Amino acid sequence: MRISKIKDNDIANGQGIVMSLWTQGCPHHCKGCFNPETWDFNSGREFKQEDLNYIIENIDKNNIKRNLSILGGEPLCSQNIDGVVDLCRRFKEIYPNKKIYVWTGYILENLNEAQNQILKYIDVLVDGKFEEDRKDLSLVMRGSNNQKIINVSNNNQL
Ligand code: SF4
Repeated sequence: MRISKIKDNDIANGQGIVMSLWTQGCPHHCKGCFNPETWDFNSGREFKQEDLNYIIENIDKNNIKRNLSILGGEPLCSQNIDGVVDLCRRFKEIYPNKKIYVWTGYILENLNEAQNQILKYIDVLVDGKFEEDRKDLSLVMRGSNNQKIINVSNNNQL
């Protein structure tokens, strides 16, 4: 699994304040993508144990209660999926009540067996590629209106 960056305080991706992790590498190449620097599978850096420790130890840094958001790039592509599932599993072992939001260009109904593993650990999946001709800036947590917000854990609050 490769990552582009980790941001401690993000209010644009998820509900409330989240710590966000951008994975590196995306096979979708959506026209109008707002994050093309995350496409290259050779760029960014390898996700290491220190990164996991950083997330675990700093998720509530400065007494700010945060959830975790994982974006891309493509978190669920074959190059990243195992590392992302492992991160989500380990995060939830320690913080079962914190939410995990994941964005993917894949469609929920088309996820393969490896990709489906992530549904055991996350709370919200935002699925679908960004489609420029369906772009809608008024949408919450989405860029285009083909994308769906899926409440995986069936919590009332997203
Ligand atoms: S899936 Fe996301 S990161 Fe990948 S090209 Fe589309 S908008 Fe960009």
